[in-house]
Amino acid sequence: MSEIIHRSNTRPVRVGDLTIGGSNELFIQSMTTTKTHDVEATVAEILRLEEAGCQIVRVACPDERAAYSIGEIKKRINIPLVVDIHFDYKLALIAIEQGADKIRINPGNIGRKEKVEAVVNAAKAKGIPIRIGVNAGSLEKKFLEKYGYPTADGMVESALHHIKILEDLDFHDIIVSMKASDVNLAIEAYQKASKAFDYPLHLGITESGTLFAGSIKSAAGLGTLLSMGIGNTMRVSLSADPVEEIKVARELLKVFGLSSNAATLISCPTCGRIEIDLISIANEVEEYISHIKAPIKVAVLGCAVNGPGEAREADIGIAGARGEGLLFRKGKTVRKVPEETMVEELKIEIDKIASEYFAK
Ligand code: SF4
Repeated sequence: MSEIIHRSNTRPVRVGDLTIGGSNELFIQSMTTTKTHDVEATVAEILRLEEAGCQIVRVACPDERAAYSIGEIKKRINIPLVVDIHFDYKLALIAIEQGADKIRINPGNIGRKEKVEAVVNAAKAKGIPIRIGVNAGSLEKKFLEKYGYPTADGMVESALHHIKILEDLDFHDIIVSMKASDVNLAIEAYQKASKAFDYPLHLGITESGTLFAGSIKSAAGLGTLLSMGIGNTMRVSLSADPVEEIKVARELLKVFGLSSNAATLISCPTCGRIEIDLISIANEVEEYISHIKAPIKVAVLGCAVNGPGEAREADIGIAGARGEGLLFRKGKTVRKVPEETMVEELKIEIDKIASEYFAK
């Protein structure tokens, strides 16, 4: 088992009204799929992402039209906006001037020193950070030639190369990502990076695939890193509606006890003892609690034989019984409820417990 590295070891970096790194919680990030110059569509997508729990959003900035849209987009959203730029320092300058909260650009790819300095000075003047995005698929030639293929060491050397350019200009508001679509490579690269420098790490398994396969791949890679205490922001990359990325990310954070604003569902796999239509009830309750912003646990169990005892940690739950349900709190039965109304009664109890949490 690898050594546990605490998130509090990382340098705090401000992005909009959030502080990333230090002892702060891990923030969920996503990226829009719209054309950034289409302000209406981009804002609409970002507002949907916010509603789902997205805390930082990134937009692509391939041209001037996109760069000049940043100001208008910023005015109409409520979470920090990261602007993704490849190579073109002029786009970076426009995006910064338009009010980007962070830019993602690799300083080593900008070109002449004066251009790098211009971007760094503009970022300094606005107090915004720069994310260095190392990607195994686009590693610089010199690191590929040194190792023959993309390796974790090559990725860390690439990150250090870009970091040095910024540090030499006395710029330290840096966030780094070490993405790879190969899960083992990404894990090794992030582990090595977490020991090589103390800048916050943005986690991602790139090109991970569709909703089903990509969620599993991301959970395997990102979950391993989270279990080691690595990561300050995270994106689950899926070939799907980005709202799905947020749902998966939130679920993953809940698994590791890293979410302070989401409810968790515990439901049994069902077996021959089942007394209620558990699968549809579990889906209905899952949808209901997805809007609850308190870290409570809700259980839905098919029978009362092992039910309440198996879900002792649940704040509230129901277990099926013949023609009725048992409502229980912390493993203890509270009362019996008729089958027809048990889901509604559970929802009322969930709301009560959530408001108790906020009243604390
Ligand atoms: Fe089976 Fe009951 Fe356990 Fe569900 S709670 S798996 S129905 S024994």
